[in-house]
Amino acid sequence: MATVNLEIVTPNKKVYSENIGMAIVRSTGGELGILPKHAPLVTGILPHAMRVEKEDSSEELIAVCGGFMEVKPDKITVLASAAELPINIDVNRAKKAYDRAKERLDILQKSQEEHKNIDFVRAQAALERAKARLKATKNPID
Ligand code: ATP
Repeated sequence: MATVNLEIVTPNKKVYSENIGMAIVRSTGGELGILPKHAPLVTGILPHAMRVEKEDSSEELIAVCGGFMEVKPDKITVLASAAELPINIDVNRAKKAYDRAKERLDILQKSQEEHKNIDFVRAQAALERAKARLKATKNPID
């Protein structure tokens, strides 16, 4: 099987470095499937559960928060503000973050004028990060 090296790096550490068969990534321009020998590109990425097809054809999900991705024919580099393998995700923490963000967004929707101190963009981004973590751990999201 042809492979491409995938490296996922955050400001704190290297989260992932493997030779893979394919990656499916939610970029700012839409969903991208990256195979070995893909044409070079640089794009922004949104918080999501990145799907990786490994060399042995098994699939892996990795929670990736926003950042950038550089693709070269033999290497994919993801630079993310945070990223976690499912085994390192604290599901309870992600559920709490999800509920907190949902509650903030619900309050805002009901009465935006009265809640000027709630930052919509921040709450929405927190919700997306929590969803990425819950999806990567295959937890249902309502
Ligand atoms: P929280 O509100 O729970 O802190 P967050 O989305 O604001 O969530 P981030 O700013 O994306 O958190 O991440 C800060 C650090 O905490 C990163 O190192 C990230 O990997 C880690 N982290 C965040 N949530 C989780 C989680 N549910 N399980 C494991 N690590 C997490």
